[in-house]
Amino acid sequence: MTFEELGLSPRVLTGVRSMGYSEPTPIQREAVPHILAGSDVVGCAQTGTGKTAAFVLPMLDRIEKTGTIGALIVTPTRELAQQIADTAMKATRGTGHRIAVIYGGVGYEPQLQKLRKGVDIVIATPGRLLDINARGELDLSSVKVLVLDEADRMLDMGFWPDVRKIISLCPDSRQNLLFSATMSTEVLRVVRSTLHEPVMVETSPAATPVERIEQRVYPVNAQQKAELLVTLLDRESLDKVLVFTRTKHRADHVHKVLAREGVSSAPIHGGRTQAQRQKALEGFKSGRHRVLVATDVVSRGIDVDEISHVINYDLPNTAEDYVHRIGRTARAGASGSAITFLAAEEYETLAEIERVLGERLVCEDVEGFSYGHRIVPNPERKVDTTPRPVFSSGVMSHRGGSRRGGQRRGPRR
Ligand code: ADP
Ligand code: MG
Repeated sequence: MTFEELGLSPRVLTGVRSMGYSEPTPIQREAVPHILAGSDVVGCAQTGTGKTAAFVLPMLDRIEKTGTIGALIVTPTRELAQQIADTAMKATRGTGHRIAVIYGGVGYEPQLQKLRKGVDIVIATPGRLLDINARGELDLSSVKVLVLDEADRMLDMGFWPDVRKIISLCPDSRQNLLFSATMSTEVLRVVRSTLHEPVMVETSPAATPVERIEQRVYPVNAQQKAELLVTLLDRESLDKVLVFTRTKHRADHVHKVLAREGVSSAPIHGGRTQAQRQKALEGFKSGRHRVLVATDVVSRGIDVDEISHVINYDLPNTAEDYVHRIGRTARAGASGSAITFLAAEEYETLAEIERVLGERLVCEDVEGFSYGHRIVPNPERKVDTTPRPVFSSGVMSHRGGSRRGGQRRGPRR
């Protein structure tokens, strides 16, 4: 299957060529024709499966080049907005649509000037977009396509009231596209209240990147995590390493430990300014920093190819976050490795992760490392493998074997 066969116009295919994609990913294959046909679409596919192009490309064939806002993309973080913009810049090479990117943490003036000059596509985070609207500088009355990207994350981050306000500023006749890595009851509620007879597109679980990721668990006591990390970085050929910690303070701490050991790293978390985050990300992309130390808040913003290893220095709070974290490696068909440091107090979360993955993760020791007192999981431990509903409302399609009913069996929040 080629991009040509999806029904995209020649001018959009010019953009595809400049993006360097040779064939569409499953979510692109399934979503693009429905979007071109004008339907509301809900797209659910794991992180790293190409959802951005799945909406950006057909969207370009749905809007004219008028200099008024024809498409509005709302996304939770600045990093995501910037990444979508990068994709859209390439995609519009043959169409000439003009794009404005709107997010907080930077000056208003350049964004306002851009809007005043006239744009066809706006890519925005909710807060700044509403600020600009409050200044009387936003006209969404010509929006034909509204995209809610990473809807699950926007709900998790408490952005829904803002998003609802934005929706109310768009015409009722618009086409709605909603993309999400997960389909929780909350997301489904939004789908039902906002979209009009949506086509649900869900890619097969077999296509998920998680399967290409080698996952290992290193049991260690909490006090020895830093030492273990330094040992690993010393010994193994870990090239581009993304380390996740539970809090921003711990991220800063790990960064300092690495600096002391002569490992080039940069911290990236919600406590850093936009400029600092961008610099950290660019340094990591270019290879100047071997390690990027991050928290979950910014996890989705990290779209860096060729991350060789994700290290969970701390376990995340939820199994979903685990999947998102490790999805940062093995992007676009590559393979990758995920290593999880497991302290005694994190056992319960490991059980939850294994339940969601439906498999037991392999526990290993680092040879020659002098372990202090620690607890090692039973290698025969049982994993609850009850299939987990992707759509849990009972109104839409289910993955085989899942339970019906409104009860959500996803990770605890
Ligand atoms: P998602 O939004 O599903 O997490 P992205 O849209 O960020 O995923 O895409 C993940 C990566 O895959 C990006 O680096 C992107 O450039 C790449 N990608 C997307 N579609 C294709 C394709 N058809 N062929 C090759 N690479 C692709
Ligand atoms: Mg995305």
